[in-house]
Amino acid sequence: MNFYVLTLFPEMIESGAKTSIIGRAINNGIISLEAVNIRDYSTDRHRHVDDYPYGGGAGMVMQAEPICLACEALKKRIGKQPRVIYMTPQGRTFNQDIAKELASEEELVFLCGHYEGVDERAIEMQVTDCISIGDYVLTGGELPSLVIMDAVSRMVPGVLTNEDSGMNESFEGNLLEYPQYTRPEEYNGSRVPDILLSGHHANIERWRRNQSLLRTAKWRPDLFEKVSLDKHDRKFLRENGFDI
Ligand code: SAM
Repeated sequence: MNFYVLTLFPEMIESGAKTSIIGRAINNGIISLEAVNIRDYSTDRHRHVDDYPYGGGAGMVMQAEPICLACEALKKRIGKQPRVIYMTPQGRTFNQDIAKELASEEELVFLCGHYEGVDERAIEMQVTDCISIGDYVLTGGELPSLVIMDAVSRMVPGVLTNEDSGMNESFEGNLLEYPQYTRPEEYNGSRVPDILLSGHHANIERWRRNQSLLRTAKWRPDLFEKVSLDKHDRKFLRENGFDI
């Protein structure tokens, strides 16, 4: 997977991606990440990349030309038409299904807006997808693009080792993940549930499934719309006061 990020703040992308699991995957050559500075494509002698909005109003708007030139140069280098994702609070809201969908691409290009956003013509000319990371407004698209690259990278074969495996994570199967515990068995008077120490795998699996059901019922009941529950699940939820 090759990520390219069109941004006015390449150092933000580089520093955000160089640590932990993603940093390791980059060092191992499993994924690559290149931050392209849109300012390098300004044809203005002062290297301006933004201007006042037509029609008035607060703030500045990123100009179409440097974005389009940066994007065209990148596409020429890649040698094909990749998906170009504009990070915007107006896009479809990112989730695990979209992460899976994006993980099947070989190249992903992210366009990060700043200030009041981007001249609409750049979006019309270059962008294939508009994605939001939630219903709030951030100062720029850099953090949202890092969020998406992180979620997508975890699905690229070889990025997660056995130790950080993503098999039972929240949203896999549309339930939230069960509670996790590690050593010691007792911490400040609070013990790890006995069943996790029993070595009885079938009972542990049932306990985990039940905990996932309980958490989802308490915190994200909306997720049940997409979950297929069997009769044991329904019985357990009913016994615990949830009529789902
Ligand atoms: N004026 C724009 C609007 O109302 O839709 C918001 C501009 S925002 C201050 C600046 C940039 O931050 C956007 O162009 C976008 O790239 C990024 N951004 C802000 N919030 C975001 C979100 N929730 N998801 C994805 N990108 C976001």
